Amino acid sequence: MRIDELRKVVEREYSRLCEVLKLDPIPLDVYLVDEDSKQFSELGISLKSPLAFYDKEKIILPRTDNELNALQNYEPKFPPIVWDKAHPKEWPLWRVELWHEVCHQVENDIIRGWKGGVEGGDAWKDAVIYIAKCFKVTKEQVTAIL
Ligand SMILES: [Zn+2]
Repeated sequence: MRIDELRKVVEREYSRLCEVLKLDPIPLDVYLVDEDSKQFSELGISLKSPLAFYDKEKIILPRTDNELNALQNYEPKFPPIVWDKAHPKEWPLWRVELWHEVCHQVENDIIRGWKGGVEGGDAWKDAVIYIAKCFKVTKEQVTAIL
């Protein structure tokens, strides 16, 4: 899959997530990591950086050539049909990372307890419970994909 194709797939997943979770979408940056580049992504991140993160204003989701080469032209089912991040077809790395960052957004926007990239704290646990409720699954199922 090409990066522009994957970007569309990720954007579609993110807007569906925002709808189900009642989040206001924030800018999402999906770019191809380039170790030798001196350039920056749309949202001003060095293209050298492979680090995914959330920071209240944006979600950054760099992808690598290796991942793109391994991806089939397949869009995971939404809502998910399997809740297991070890399932390679339904839970490619980009999806696991997107849901992880969206869980941080829920911690901030819904739970109002985001403290900056900490997993396993009270706000994180409450965000998992909230996501489970919105998708009508258990919190164990949500934990299995984060
Ligand atoms: Zn995190």
